[in-house]
Order: sequence, then structure tokens, then C-alpha cells
Amino acid sequence: MNDQQRQLFDPEPAPWELDDAEQRRVASVVFSEPPFGPYDYEVPTELDSDVEAGRRVRVPIGRGNRVLAGYCIEVSTQSHSGRRLKPIRAVLDTRPLLSQRMIRLAQWIADYYVCELGQALEAVVPAGVRERAGTREQVFLSVPIAVVARLTQLKLPKKQAVALRILAGSANPLTPAQLAEAADCTQAPITALRKKQLVQEQIKRVQNVEVTETQVAREAHLDLNPDQQRALDSILADVKSDKQSTTLLHGITGSGKTEVYIRAIDEVLKYGRQAIVLVPEISLTPQTRARFRRRFDSIAVLHSHLSAAERHWHWQQIARGDVQVVVGARSAIFAPTPRLGLVVIDEEHDSSFKQDTAPRYHAREVALQRTRDEGVPLVLGSATPALESWHAAQTGQYQLVDMPRRVMDRPLPDVATIDLRVEFQSRTSRGAISRPMHQAMAQTLNEGGQVILLLNRRGFSTQIQCPRCGHVIKCEDCDIALTHHRDDDTTRCHYCDYQSTPPNACPKCTFDGIRYGGLGTQKLEAEVQGRFPDFEVLRMDSDTMRKPGSHEQALARFRAGDAKILLGTQMIAKGLDFPAVTLVGVINADTALHFPDFRAAERTFQLVTQVAGRTGRGDQGGRVLVQTFTPEHPAIEAAKRHDYHAFVEGELPLRAQFGYTPYASMIRFVVRGEIEDQTEAFASQLVELLTPRLANLTKCRVLGPAACPIAKLRGRYRYHVLVMGAELDAMREATRQVIQNLKTPDSVQWIVDVDPLDLL
Ligand code: ADP
Ligand code: ZN
Repeated sequence: MNDQQRQLFDPEPAPWELDDAEQRRVASVVFSEPPFGPYDYEVPTELDSDVEAGRRVRVPIGRGNRVLAGYCIEVSTQSHSGRRLKPIRAVLDTRPLLSQRMIRLAQWIADYYVCELGQALEAVVPAGVRERAGTREQVFLSVPIAVVARLTQLKLPKKQAVALRILAGSANPLTPAQLAEAADCTQAPITALRKKQLVQEQIKRVQNVEVTETQVAREAHLDLNPDQQRALDSILADVKSDKQSTTLLHGITGSGKTEVYIRAIDEVLKYGRQAIVLVPEISLTPQTRARFRRRFDSIAVLHSHLSAAERHWHWQQIARGDVQVVVGARSAIFAPTPRLGLVVIDEEHDSSFKQDTAPRYHAREVALQRTRDEGVPLVLGSATPALESWHAAQTGQYQLVDMPRRVMDRPLPDVATIDLRVEFQSRTSRGAISRPMHQAMAQTLNEGGQVILLLNRRGFSTQIQCPRCGHVIKCEDCDIALTHHRDDDTTRCHYCDYQSTPPNACPKCTFDGIRYGGLGTQKLEAEVQGRFPDFEVLRMDSDTMRKPGSHEQALARFRAGDAKILLGTQMIAKGLDFPAVTLVGVINADTALHFPDFRAAERTFQLVTQVAGRTGRGDQGGRVLVQTFTPEHPAIEAAKRHDYHAFVEGELPLRAQFGYTPYASMIRFVVRGEIEDQTEAFASQLVELLTPRLANLTKCRVLGPAACPIAKLRGRYRYHVLVMGAELDAMREATRQVIQNLKTPDSVQWIVDVDPLDLL
């Protein structure tokens, strides 16, 4: 009887008829690409001891039995249900890449952010680890016991006999190259022994690259001031209690937050546990790295310039428990520390903690989940906490600890605004730098101080406009005004990097007096150089910082005092600690204020406060000048007075009134496609599908479809749909149902973003 006939004629055996032989081992496998799974596979007997949750396997998929690598997430013993399963072909990893805990965390990410488990797993396991970067397969030779017993009786050519005797006498298996050296022969006799099967072969993975860390002299801890001590005590109470808790450490810039983290970590290490410290990508400077290195023996710093091999190496060290402190950007939250004791997120308001590709997770949310699962404290630190975090502290979900003073009682810098409306009316100011700003710079430089200037726009002219017809030159693919870059005389799109030569005449009306307006960092650099020709100017933006290490070099020059003026985009606003900076100038505080985004005021407040915090860090004090067209704006007024509380008290009621975060949650769909009608039609269809499913929820709204503020990007039209409401779980469930039954035409693509930070 063939299989088919058996299926036709034999009824399913009843459970009591099954004996052990009918039990089978079944592995559940997911993939990081479609079809994502999970699918069940049979574990063949010969692989039984190798297949386990957390290892990757090769399995056949679909009608054609295409072989794909996937993650085994569960192995169970099931009784034969009659359903035939395809067997696993091979196991890829010699040990699990994921612990049960990490699989659970990935599952949580998949649920929360409405993505596939396979995608979430791909974020948890770094690419360098998946590719086993920096390792290679190596054959090791040894002599089987049976051959050892016959060693003296074997009739072999001399060289083979020597090699075999040496190998038999070796305490460890040897590689063919090692054996050739030890026996002083070529590969030929060794190959002959292998052919005769007198030696046995074993393949192992070995490390290709060794990572050596530069040693830094150790330094003792500082004596904490009373505010710091209070903060530390509060955190340590939670460390000892063995339960999850979240502390929001609201400490102004220069209040000594990092010192508190370091001491809390120190305590955790005493319990034999490990700590993870997340910092914004841009703050992973050698300064930060050295600071942690000086205090701890074994630390891994995961920064973006690591090679895949180095990442893999660190990951293995961490998994082995050989690393005490992991410092890194967003993805370091997935560090496989075996006994986690504490997680710290510094500058927790920073938007780089949210990933902008699937899974679109926020490291703060993932950290909350991970610390809950492992029962350890989480510390969130910032001078300007995200309103979400502030709200959570106000409603008792987080504990709030304040550090309202700078260390050594250093005063906060004076902040003054310069009203650009007045300046430009009086016509005494030319260019981007107003007269008061110029005077302050001149004075600071004469006194030997250093200056930081913030302008959040790179390029030279940020707008190329025809004064006759008003036409603005835009990227054809992106609907974004092109920026003129003078160093290589190109016009560029800052979204897709489309480059072209600048036009001499208006492409629309052919008028030849086209105007280059708007201000970018390149133009500012030229202006500053013209005004202060005796001083070196450093520019830091993503154009000058493309090469690895250039960021570090620029900062080192500034620290050494070789350059007196540092200007740049927001990348200079964060974390830098230069005591000789006595003047910070904000060239235009309004650049981010009028973005079509409900967080525009919050971002402006954070940016101005953070950059203001870069001065007054030494004994000479410091001051801040903020140029703005709207000095009366609450965000700027609050930043001027270093008054976070005033800002939130003004801002939160607005958020409540309009139903924005933190009073409601948001799920955003972005649909894009080359044909505008179809793109919009698909977005409309999403609204139609979502609306009835959300009808019963309190205060839930579906907005759109509307063209995104960036209506076209890389040749594709963009529409978005926003779901806003108080019941995130139910909103997510509705979203999932809609997605599951969604037929997406080939002409469009869409993404879904839970708790979006980017609304452009
Ligand atoms: P924050 O992270 O809050 O901006 P930091 O931890 O970077 O502040 O501290 C600012 C500066 O003050 C650093 O140079 C640090 O070494 C120094 N500092 C911090 N705590 C103390 C202390 N208790 N005594 C002396 N100096 C301190
Ligand atoms: Zn473009």
C-alpha cells in the first residue's frame, strides 16, 4: 500500500492506539522574509540532538521545496496527527543564537509593533552574528583509537608514518597546516593519510580576527554631591529589591547624571550581573567610551564603525558573560547578557532610539519589556525628558528623581534671544549672523574662549527660487527643494541624494536672475570665515562627517583648542563636554518649529536646551544667544529660562486637547507608489477597512488618507493614514486584522508604524 492509499483507507488512529513510536518531534520555524511562517517541520532522528529553539535551520518550503534558512523558535513532542510534515534538512548553528528570553522579547516586539516574528528576530541577532563574520570553518585532524592501537603494525611510507605518529602523540587535534609544520612535511603525506582514513576529520568554526581593546588607565569614582547621592540611593533601593522599576532621572545638563549611572552600575556588578547603557548614536564618541573604560574592567562599546567581525566577537564575549558593561546605541538593548542587572538609557528623549525600518521599535519600550521580564531596574536619564516619559512619571508608572543643579554649583548659562525681525528691520545686520551675535563672538574669541554655532540645515543655499515667477527648484523624485552645495557646485536633494548642476536660468520662465536663498551650514561657514579670518572654523554635519573617524578628529581638534569655532547641525548639540566653550549661538531656532508635526515645539525646546547645555561647563561660565523670529514662542521662552516644567505645563494641555501622545496612542500607515491615483486609492481602502473595526473604541479617530508632508520621495507618491485613540491594544488588534486580509496591488507598498516619531 502506498502512502496515498494508506491515507485513504486507514482512519486516524485514536489517541489510545498510539504508542511511543507514533510520537514525533516537531519544530516551529519562522523566516525573516515572506512567507514568514511559523511553519511546522519534522525533526529527523539524526538531527534530534541538534534542533532546539534559538538555532537556525535549513528547511524546504513551498511546492518547489526551495530551501530557506529560518529560526527554530520551539520544539515540541506531538502525537502523529496524520498530517505529514517536511523534515528539517540541516541545522546551521552549533549553539542557540537566542535564549528563550530573547525569543519572548522578539515575540513581544512582533506583537506590539505589528510585524513578523522573523523580522523582529533579525533585529535581535546582529547581522555579523548571523553571518558568523570573522570566523571560518577549519578542519582538525586526530587519530582514532583503533588506529592508535595498530600504530606499530602499519606499513606506511616514512613521511606518512612520522606525521601519523606525531598526530597520535598530540594532546589536541591539529589542523593540516599545524601537522605539516610539526612533522616537517608537505601536505601530500597528510592528504594520503586522510584518504586512507587513518586520521579522522572534524570541522570546527574558529575565530579569524582577534579584537584587541586599547587599555585605558583606571580612575577612581568621584565623590557624589547630595543630589547625585539621592538619585543613586533611589536607584539602588530598586536594584536590591530584585523587581522591575523605572526611574526617570531628570537632571539638567551638567548635573552629573553619568556619574550616577556609573555608580549604580558598579553596585550591580557586585552581584555578578551585567549592565547595558544605551546612548544616542552620535554620543558614542571616544570621550564617552574612554569615560566608561576608565571606570570598568570589562566593557564592550558597540559603535557604528565596528566591522561585522568585531560585532560578532563582542557578541560572543557578552553571551559568555565575559563583559560587565555594554555601552551602545539602540540595538545594544539586545545584548545577550546572561544575567542582566540594570539598563540605563541616557538622553532617553533622543529620536535615534526609534528604528525607522521594520521592526520599528523604540529602544525605551523594548527596554521596559526586557527589564520587566528579567526583573531588573531601568533608568531613563535626560535634561529634557520626552513628554511620554514625563507623563508616565506624573501618573506613577515611573519614579521621578530630580537633579536640578549643576555639579560644583556651576551656574547654568544665561540665555538671551535676538529678535531677527528687529535686526533685519534695522538693516544693521547682514547675512546670517546678527550684529549682537557678531559682537559676542568677537568678545569671546578675544578672551580666548571657544564658540559653538548651531544651524540645523546643511548645504549652502537651501532654496533656489526664481524671483520673477516664484518657481522653486525641486527634486523631481521627492518634491523637496534642492539645496545648493558650493564646495562641489552641485544642487542636491537631501532625501534621495539626487545631484545635478545648478541652473543659470529659471527652468520654468527662463528668467536668468535665479536666486540662491536660504541658509545652510556651508554658507554659514563661509560667512564666519569671512568675519573672523584669524580663527579656524570647524564644520560638522553629515556632509563633512561621512568618513569613519572624521567626527572624532574634528572633536579632537576642537578639544585641543586648535580650532576656536565649531559650527554644525544638531550633531553638535548632544553630550559634548568642552569646558572652554563660553558662547553658544543658535543661528535660527525656528527651523524645526513650523514643521507639520505635533512634536515640533518639543523638538525645538529640546534642541535649544541641549545646545545651551554645551556651555558654562568650565570655571569661566558661559552664555547662549538664540536668534529667532518668534522669541515669544513658549518653547523658546521656556528654553531661555531653562525651564522644563514651564514647557511641559504649557505643552501637555495642548496634547490633551488634540488627543496626541502621551494622552493617546497613534498608529501610522504610509502608502507609497509610482502612480498617484492608485496610491491614494489604496490608502482610502485602508481607511474604509479600519473605520468599522475601530468604531466602538473610545475617542478613536482615523485620519486621512492625506498626502504626507513629504508628498513624494524617490519617485514615489506618499499618502498616510493615522489611527489615533486611547486603546492601543484594541487599535493594534484591528490593524492586524486589516493587514491579514489585505490584498496589496503590485503598484503600491505600505508600512505600518506603531508610536511613530516621524510624521513626515
Ligand atoms: P550630565 O550627564 O548630567 O550632563 P556629567 O555626568 O557629564 O553630567 O557631568 C558633568 C561634568 O561634571 C563631568 O565633567 C563630570 O566629570 C563632572 N562631575 C560629575 N559629578 C561630579 C562630582 N560629584 N564631583 C566633581 N565633578 C563631577
Ligand atoms: Zn530627491
